[in-house]
Amino acid sequence: MGVPFYDLTRQLKPLREEVLAALGRVWDSGAFALGPEVEQFEAEFAQYFGFPYAVGCASGSDALLLALMSLGVGPGDEVIVPSFTFFATASAVWRLGARPVFADIELESFNVCPDDVGSRVTARTRAIIPVHLFGQCARMDRIMEIARSNGLAVVEDVAQAIGARWNGQVAGSFGEVGCFSFYPTKNLGGAGDGGMMVTGSAVLAERLRLLRCHGMSPRYYHQVVGINSRLDGFQAAVLRIKLRYLAEWEKRRAEKAAVYFALFEENRLADILVLPRPLPGAYHVWNQFVVRVPEGRRDCLREFLKNRGIGTEIYYPLGLHEQKCFASLGYRPEDLPNTFRASREVLALPIFPELTEEEQAFVVGAIAEYYHGQAVLPAHPQRLKAVA
Ligand SMILES: *Cc1c(COP(=O)(O)O)cnc(C)c1O
Repeated sequence: MGVPFYDLTRQLKPLREEVLAALGRVWDSGAFALGPEVEQFEAEFAQYFGFPYAVGCASGSDALLLALMSLGVGPGDEVIVPSFTFFATASAVWRLGARPVFADIELESFNVCPDDVGSRVTARTRAIIPVHLFGQCARMDRIMEIARSNGLAVVEDVAQAIGARWNGQVAGSFGEVGCFSFYPTKNLGGAGDGGMMVTGSAVLAERLRLLRCHGMSPRYYHQVVGINSRLDGFQAAVLRIKLRYLAEWEKRRAEKAAVYFALFEENRLADILVLPRPLPGAYHVWNQFVVRVPEGRRDCLREFLKNRGIGTEIYYPLGLHEQKCFASLGYRPEDLPNTFRASREVLALPIFPELTEEEQAFVVGAIAEYYHGQAVLPAHPQRLKAVA
């Protein structure tokens, strides 16, 4: 027995007929770039979460870029972003000629530390991009307070946290623009790349629509310099179907997390590894289940699990402040101590809606074997009922 880090085919298989029928309709319509299917998905997405406006685009990375463009971020500006995030959060800033200013995280949540964000605000700061990493919101009350008192815009990176909440409010609805990704491994994934930008402002929504189509309105008359970043009809058709399953998948991800907590307790590992306990006020959607492996044993444990056929991943092996491409910004590795430490200790374990309890028991059993020489307890078939 092995356990894949992620097996998308388990989700795809039962949807095959439904999806192929929808793709057939798009094929017959010939509406491939934007078009009615995209408009319907935008409307359904907005309604599902209660966002006033939703604008589709080609990827989550483009969503971040377009959001910053819509706010007029450019050369001379600084944008505060966490260093512990996927590359796209900072590259969007860089590509506009602005300067990414890296903030440190809180180790408990892996999310950006509001106090550290506040300490990095200068006269040049234009915006903050909080990232809701692994499925849990950043401390949005504090971040919005810092933004308001300094006159800064907020662009939320919601790529990993669709449906997450902070004090009951949905991720993406706090800042000027919320940016989503439909990359296949996100909680709502397409059959390729796709993205969405949401906003409460009619003006920003209009600007985002303009910018994603070369700033063109009407046809061949260009008001501003935009980019080509359209969501396509095939992706929208797939995503419209998958949106109807999102609540069920979200529930199952939460059950997997609960099973992991129980298994780690039973196997006397809860005090050896640092488990991802959600903060009070956070509704976590478990895009990833990331533990910290202390004392320099992360890579060794990962190798041990690999030898038993268990897939794991490291999000992320380096903070962005340590990446070669950002060397000219002049950060030293230890400048952001929590990011530095997290990048050396994190290990993402398999979590996806179709993961079985037996597979989870196998994963935790193998970790117990690594630390204790053997699994402390066998898998308990009634566990899911007990923790639900
Ligand atoms: C996936 C991801 C993105 C980029 O999304 P793409 O659709 O792959 O371009 C941006 N930020 C974070 C935190 C992500 O996880």
